[in-house]
Amino acid sequence: MAVHALSVLVLVPALWSWTGVVLCVAGIHVFGQTITMGYHRLLAHRSFTTPLWFEHLLVIGAMCCLEDSPARWIATHRMHHAHSDEEQDPHSPLVTFLWGHLGWLFVRNQATHQSGNYHRYARDVLGDPLYMWIEKHPQCPFWIYLAQCALYAVAGFAAALLWTDATGAALFAASVVVWGVVLRTVLVWHITWSVNSLTHLFGYRNYETEEHSQNNWIVALVAAGEGWHNNHHADPSCCSLQHRWWELDLTYWEIRVLSMVGLASDITPRRSVRAANRGTVRGSAPRRQHDGQVGSIDAAVAVDVGGTSRA
Ligand SMILES: [Zn+2]
Ligand SMILES: [Zn+2]
Repeated sequence: MAVHALSVLVLVPALWSWTGVVLCVAGIHVFGQTITMGYHRLLAHRSFTTPLWFEHLLVIGAMCCLEDSPARWIATHRMHHAHSDEEQDPHSPLVTFLWGHLGWLFVRNQATHQSGNYHRYARDVLGDPLYMWIEKHPQCPFWIYLAQCALYAVAGFAAALLWTDATGAALFAASVVVWGVVLRTVLVWHITWSVNSLTHLFGYRNYETEEHSQNNWIVALVAAGEGWHNNHHADPSCCSLQHRWWELDLTYWEIRVLSMVGLASDITPRRSVRAANRGTVRGSAPRRQHDGQVGSIDAAVAVDVGGTSRA
């Protein structure tokens, strides 16, 4: 809430600058991808792999978004997949839209936050010494966020001294922080939360999954492909959420670009391709025919981190 309140400072004319606006817009994509690509597709679903240094860089970037520590974010998301739109779902919008969007963040749900859940749903994440260290130091995300603000402020102040005096530089630095960090944080929050709320309420479905996930093109547009949420629930392990040619999944294509420079590998293909690669078709009964392919549903498979059935 404090960050929401601080973001109102963008309305102060003295704190406006084109640099701040550009940093905000660019930051929505760059930092948003640390959540989408880093927390979601890489850590929560292991839909591709990347060198450890790059994974840690993505995680540090994700913590600059002040959403949650890696183990908690991933555990919460895997709980969502395992119990989508059921009582144990941490953020189903079927309760109310506001609950699914942000209300769940303000109520400490004991069922969600019991430590056993983190070990069950994020055991692999906690196996990384860095992520375990972060869990043992709960103030860590806060300090990383503050360090980010300081970095933006110092860089903005130093750069502005090239063309203005100290007062002007201080205002420029404040502008860079307010637009480039604070407002960006709020907007990335709402984009992430829209995937939880809007895409379980509004859109269309390619697959008759056992929850209310929808494909929502507006969310897909602002969240770099994450809005194709029904596609994602139908095949959570698949790196691409683009199941029809026009359902553009920008994140997937960026991961493909990363693979060309050696920063992404083991990109998980669609279930039909995985089944063909194994030489056998397994899973639940085929559902709706779609683009010449058969979609089958085993949404919880990808999130069972008990070491048995991550597809
Ligand atoms: Zn969902
Ligand atoms: Zn997911």
